[in-house]
Amino acid sequence: MGGHTPPREIRSEVQLRLPESLRSHVDPSSLSFAPPGWTNELEQMHLRLAAIEPQYRLAEVKEKFGRLRVYLPGKPRMDAALNGVIEEYERRSAQVCQECGAPGCSRAEPGRRIATLCDSCHGVVETDANS
Ligand SMILES: [Zn+2]
Repeated sequence: MGGHTPPREIRSEVQLRLPESLRSHVDPSSLSFAPPGWTNELEQMHLRLAAIEPQYRLAEVKEKFGRLRVYLPGKPRMDAALNGVIEEYERRSAQVCQECGAPGCSRAEPGRRIATLCDSCHGVVETDANS
């Protein structure tokens, strides 16, 4: 974090973005966002959650250190079934490129933000950083 310029495009596209189906279930006062590459995963997660609890609520959805983070409001233990689905997708997010949805893995180089990226998205970021 801090004041340095983020890698081109990653930040700007990530901000304030949530798949349409999820939006009405997430606390509007949160700073939720999801990287574009995870849209399909989040749509699937939404369907699974809605099947358990059609009116399910989420406190926040975001990407942190290249992984999906989803927070339930209140006491998580009261929503064990929802929690199980959420944890499954949080784990899966670590293997899906957050920019394009292709199979990816965590990229953590010194001085750069940790992100889950595929080989080709990783290459793009690398080229930009060197120019
Ligand atoms: Zn990619």
